[in-house]
Amino acid sequence: MDVKELWKNALAALEVDVSKANFATFLSSTELTSLESGKAIITCPNKLIVERLKKHYGLLIEKALTSLTGDHHQTVFQVKHPRHDSQKVKISDLGPLFTESKVRNSGLFPSYTFENFVVGLSNQLAHAAAAATASQPGTLHNPLLFHGGVGLGKTHLMHAVGNAVKKDNPEANICYCPAERFTNEMIEAIQSRRTAALFRRKYRSADVLLIDDIQFLAGREATQEEFFNTFNELYLSRKQIILTSDRHPQEIKDLEERLISRFSGGMVADIQTPDLDLRTAILRQKAQEHGQTIDNEILLTLARQIAGSIRQLEGALTQLLLLIQTHQGAAPSELINLVVQNNADARQSTNPCPNGIVENICNQFGVDKKELCGPKRTKEIKNARQAAMYVLRQTTSLPLEKIGDILGRRDHSTVLHGINVVEERLKTDSCLKQKLEKITDTTHPPTIYPPHTP
Ligand code: ADP
Ligand code: MG
Repeated sequence: MDVKELWKNALAALEVDVSKANFATFLSSTELTSLESGKAIITCPNKLIVERLKKHYGLLIEKALTSLTGDHHQTVFQVKHPRHDSQKVKISDLGPLFTESKVRNSGLFPSYTFENFVVGLSNQLAHAAAAATASQPGTLHNPLLFHGGVGLGKTHLMHAVGNAVKKDNPEANICYCPAERFTNEMIEAIQSRRTAALFRRKYRSADVLLIDDIQFLAGREATQEEFFNTFNELYLSRKQIILTSDRHPQEIKDLEERLISRFSGGMVADIQTPDLDLRTAILRQKAQEHGQTIDNEILLTLARQIAGSIRQLEGALTQLLLLIQTHQGAAPSELINLVVQNNADARQSTNPCPNGIVENICNQFGVDKKELCGPKRTKEIKNARQAAMYVLRQTTSLPLEKIGDILGRRDHSTVLHGINVVEERLKTDSCLKQKLEKITDTTHPPTIYPPHTP
C-alpha cells in the first residue's frame, strides 16, 4: 500500500473516531507525505491545524497507522506551504466546521475490496461466505463471523462485503466499528440519556453492521448486554451483521452463553495461515499494486521465508521493493536475505505445520501416528495424544475443533480436557516439560532457507 492509499484508509478509520465537524475541519485536508524511520510526516494546510492535530489527535493518528501497518510511527505535523502560512488564516481555510459538514460516516476502508483480496485454500471458505453475503445481505448468512489469527485478512474481508453492498446500494447505511470502540462509545453514551439514545440510534439504524474483534467484549458485561440488544434488533429486522474474532466464539472466555449462541448461529468461517501458493500470489498482486513486476522466482523465495501473517508479508515486500531500487545490481538472494533478517519476528510467529508437530510428538513418545489418531486409549497413547493437543494449541492458532479433527475427529471438549490435563502435569513433571520444550523448539522452520532452485 503506498502512503496515499494508507492515509485514505487511516482517514476512514479516524472518521469514525472524531466528530464529523472536527474531521472535516482538521483531518480531511491533511496528507501523509512520508512514512519512514519510525516517523509519519503529515502535512496540513495551515499552522492552526498543525497545532490542533499535535495537541488532540497525535495519539489517535498513531494508533490508526499502527493498526494498518503493524508498526509504530511517531507523528510529525508540518505546514504544507510554510511560506504562505505567515498570512492570516482565512475563515474558509477552517473548513466545514463552520459550514455544516455532510461527511458520511461509514468507517469503511475504501481499499479493502473483493477485487484485491487474493483467494487461496486457507481463506476460500471465508471468501465464499463473504461474497454470498454481499449479494444477499441480511438473508443468507446472518450473522457472518470470520475468525483466525492476526493479519490474515479478517478485517479486509469484512470491509470488502461492506464496500460491495455500498457499491450496489449507495444509500445503504453501513456501520463499521471495532468492538473496542463500541465499548468506549457505550461508556461515554450512558452518561446522559440523550447520548445514550444517539448511540442506540447509530448502531440500530445500520443496514449492515460490522463489528471487528469481538473477543474484546470478553468480560465486559454491560457492553455485552447492550450488544445483545443491538444484535437482536438488527437480526429481527433482517439487517446484516458481520463479526470478526481472533478465535472461535466458543473459545472466548467470559463471553455470555447467549452471545456465543447468537454469534455461532449463522455462518462461522475460519481463516488459516496462508500456504506457499497463496503467499506467492499475494506478493505478486501487491507488487503489481505498487506498479512493479517481479520475477516469479524472487517472489517464491520471499514467500518461502516470510511465513507469518499477510501483514508481515506486505511489509517484507515493501522493504524488498525499496532495496531493489536502492541496490541496483545486487543479487536478489542477497536482498531477500536482508529482508528476512529484518523480519525475524515473521518467522517466529510462523504457524508451524500441524502434521510436522504430530510427527514430532509420535517420535518423542514412540507411538505410531495411526494409533495417535485412532480409537485406542492405552495410557501411553493417551499421554501422547494429550501432549499433541497441548503442543498444537501452544504453537498454532488452530481452534479446538481443528485440533480435534487432526487428532482423529475428537470433539472440542475432549481437546480442552486434554490440554488441561497436560497443563496440570507440567506443574510437577519436569521430564514432560523438557520433552515438550524439545518439540516446540524444533517446530519452527529453519532461519534461512537455501535459495530455491527449480
Ligand atoms: P486481520 O483483520 O485478520 O488482522 P487484515 O484484514 O487487517 O487482518 O489484513 C492484514 C493486511 O493483509 C491488510 O493490509 C490486508 O489488505 C492484507 N490481506 C489480508 N488477506 C489478504 C488477501 N487474501 N489478499 C490480499 N491482501 C490481503
Ligand atoms: Mg483485523
